[in-house]
Amino acid sequence: MNYNSFFSSKLANLKQEGSYRVFAQIARRQGAFPKATNHGHQSRQGTTVWCSNDYLGMGQHPKVIQAMEGTLAKYGAGAGGTRNISGTSPLHVTLERELADLHDKEAALMFTSGYVANDAVLSTLAKALPDCVVFSDEKNHASMIEGIRRARVTKHIFKHNDANDLANLLSKYDKNQPKIAAFESVYSMDGDIAPIAELCDVAEQYGALTYLDEVHGVGLYGYKGGGIAQQRELCDRISIIQGTFGKAIGLIGGYIAANATLVDFIRSFSPGFIFTTSMPPVIVAGVIESIRILKEGDLLRKQHQDRVQLLKVKLKQAQIPFYDGGSHLVPVIVGDAVLCKQVCDILMEKYAIYVQPINYPTVPKGTERLRLAPTPLHTPEMIDHLVGALSEIWIELFLKKAA
Ligand code: PLP
Repeated sequence: MNYNSFFSSKLANLKQEGSYRVFAQIARRQGAFPKATNHGHQSRQGTTVWCSNDYLGMGQHPKVIQAMEGTLAKYGAGAGGTRNISGTSPLHVTLERELADLHDKEAALMFTSGYVANDAVLSTLAKALPDCVVFSDEKNHASMIEGIRRARVTKHIFKHNDANDLANLLSKYDKNQPKIAAFESVYSMDGDIAPIAELCDVAEQYGALTYLDEVHGVGLYGYKGGGIAQQRELCDRISIIQGTFGKAIGLIGGYIAANATLVDFIRSFSPGFIFTTSMPPVIVAGVIESIRILKEGDLLRKQHQDRVQLLKVKLKQAQIPFYDGGSHLVPVIVGDAVLCKQVCDILMEKYAIYVQPINYPTVPKGTERLRLAPTPLHTPEMIDHLVGALSEIWIELFLKKAA
C-alpha cells in the first residue's frame, strides 16, 4: 500500500470540506490575560483572545504561579512514574481530597486530562458491569462517545436534554439490569444547560447510575465552584461527577468524584488510570491553589457573570444574532462556513481580536458560529471593541441581523 497517498487523500478531503484545522499561534502573556501575542500575524502583541477556556484567567493567577514556582523548586519537574509505581506524592493525595470536597463526594481520582477521565471511566464501568446498557445524550462530548464505544455494550442515544426520551428508552429494560445515563451540565457549543434534576428523576426511577460531565461548569457555578449540580443542590443525586483542570481551573488534567467504593473500583480496574505516568507535582500544586482560591469566595464567579451579561446586552443592542442558553458561553451565529471564517479573519486582521470559527462537523451545517467566552478580565472597553467590530463586519459582509 502507498501509505502516504492514502493519508494525503484523506487530508485533501478535509481541505475540500473546509474542515481542515489550521492552528493559530497565540502566545498568552503572563500577567496580561486576555491579551496575547499572535505569532502568525506579524507577531502582533495586543491581540485580545475571546475564545479561551481559561474562563477565569486562573492560568495566570499570581498565587497559582507562586505555588507552582515553589513546587518546581522543591519537587523538580516530573512525577517519576505511574500512581502505583513512584508517582503518588502527598500533593496528589491532597488534591484528591480537595476534589472530593469540591463536589461534596466521598472520594476523587485524577487523570491526565478530562478526555482521558471520560474515556477511561465510561469504558471501564460499562465493560465491567454485567450486561450494562448506556444511555448517552446526543450532544455528548467526543471523549464520552469514545469511552462508551470502547466498552462495546448496548447503547442508546437520547434526544438532547430530553428526560422524557431518556425515560422512554430506559423503560424498555428491567430495573435490575445495570445502566448508565451519561450527560453534560453545560454544553459548550450552544451554551445550554441540562435539566439535571429531571434526568436524575428518570435515572433513579429506572435504576441507572448517573454520569455528569461538569467540564464547563466546574469553578464557575455553585457556592464553592462545584459546578451546575452544586448550584442546583443536586450533587448527591449524581453517581459520578467528571471534571477538568483545563478550563476554569486554568491548568491541565481531569478527574472524577464519586462514592469511595466506586472511586476505588476505577482506581483498581481502569487501564487509563493505572498504566500512565501521573501528573507532575508542579501541575498538581497549581491545581490545588486554583481550586482553593475558587472555593474561598464567589467574587471571580460574580465578576464573570457580570461580564457575560454585559456582553449579551451589548450584542442584543447591536442586533448581532446569538444563542442565549443561559450559561457563560455565547455562540454568535453566522450560519455559513466560509463567512464564519471570513468574520474571524477580519476580526484578527483589522481589529486584533482572536476568535476561532466553529464549523461542521463540530456544529451542524448552517449553524456555523463564533463561540465567545467572556472572562472577568475582559473589560467593558474590550466588550465595546468586540461588539463594535462585529457590527462593522456584519455590514461589510451583508450578514443577517437579529430581529
Ligand atoms: N468534556 C467536555 C464536554 C469537553 O468540552 C472537553 C474538552 O473540550 C472534555 C471533556 C475534555 O477535557 P480536557 O480538555 O481536560 O481533556
